[in-house]
Amino acid sequence: MSRMVGRILVLGGTGDALTIARRLQASDVYSLAGLGKVPDGLACRVRVGGFGGSEGLARFLETERIALVVDATHPYAAQMSANAASASKLAGVNCWALRRPPWEPRGGDDWRWVANWDAIRAELAPFARPFFTLGREPLSHLADIPAHQYWTIRCLDAHPGTDRARVIGARGPFTLDGERALFEQNRFDVVVSKNSGGAATEAKLDVARERGLPVVMLRRPSLPAVARIFETTDALLAELDALREPIDDRMIRPGS
Ligand code: NAP
Repeated sequence: MSRMVGRILVLGGTGDALTIARRLQASDVYSLAGLGKVPDGLACRVRVGGFGGSEGLARFLETERIALVVDATHPYAAQMSANAASASKLAGVNCWALRRPPWEPRGGDDWRWVANWDAIRAELAPFARPFFTLGREPLSHLADIPAHQYWTIRCLDAHPGTDRARVIGARGPFTLDGERALFEQNRFDVVVSKNSGGAATEAKLDVARERGLPVVMLRRPSLPAVARIFETTDALLAELDALREPIDDRMIRPGS
C-alpha cells in the first residue's frame, strides 16, 4: 500500500483552498499569488508570490522536499495549474487538483458562451447596463466604455471607478437577497461571468434567471491532466486524512 510521508504544497487563492490549508500541518506550505488577503491563524507555512514558472516551482518542490502538490487554484488560473502539472512531473512529485464542477444552464437561462474579452465586448453591444463579475479585467478597459453603456464591475480590488463605471470591491459569498437588491437598484440588463462553479457566487445566476436577463459566460480554460482530480474539498480532505493516518498510527503505537 503506498502511503505518503512528506510535506504537502497547496496552491491556493480560493475559499476552497483556504479550507484545505486550515487542515495542513506545520511542515506543509500554503502558497498564494499575492493578489488578495493573506490569511492568518494557519498551522502551516504561508508563502506569497510566484515561483518563477514551472522550472522555479520544480526547484521549490525539490529544495523544500515536497511530497505532494495540491492545485486548489481557481479554475481560471490556468497558467498556475499548467505549471503545477509540469513542475510536478519534472520533480517526480504527485499532483492532485481540486476542480469544482462548472455551473450548468437550467430551464429559463439565456447563456451566451464566449472565449475572450473581444467576444464579451461584441456580445455586450446591444446592452446598456452590464454587470461584470469576472475579476479585474474590465478595470483595464475603463477608457473604452461605449457611449451607450454604464458598467458595474464587482471584483476584489478597491477602485474609485469613473463617471461611466462603478466598481464594487467585494468578496463572496453573496446571498440571493443581496443579489436581488443589487440587480434591482442598478437595473442591470446583462450579466458577465466566469463559470466558476460552487455555491458562493451562484446567486447572481438565479437572479438573472428570475429577471430574464442574459448571461455572457466566459468559457473555462483547458486544464492539465494530473494524477487525481477531486470535485469537492471534502473528497480531497478525506484522501489527505487517509494518507496521513498511518503516520499518526505509528506515533500512537510505535513498532506496530
Ligand atoms: P494564473 O494566471 O494562472 O497565474 C499567473 C502566475 O501567478 C503564475 O504563473 C504564478 O507565477 C503566479 N501564481 C498564481 N497562483 C499562484 C499561487 N497560488 N501561488 C504562487 N504563485 C501563483 O493565475 P491568476 O488567474 O492570475 O490567479 C492568481 C491567483 O488568484 C491564484 O492563486 C488563483 O487561485 C486566484 N484566483 C484567481 C481567479 C481567476 O478568476 N483567475 C479567481 C479567484 C482567485 P510564477 O509563474 O512566477 O510561479
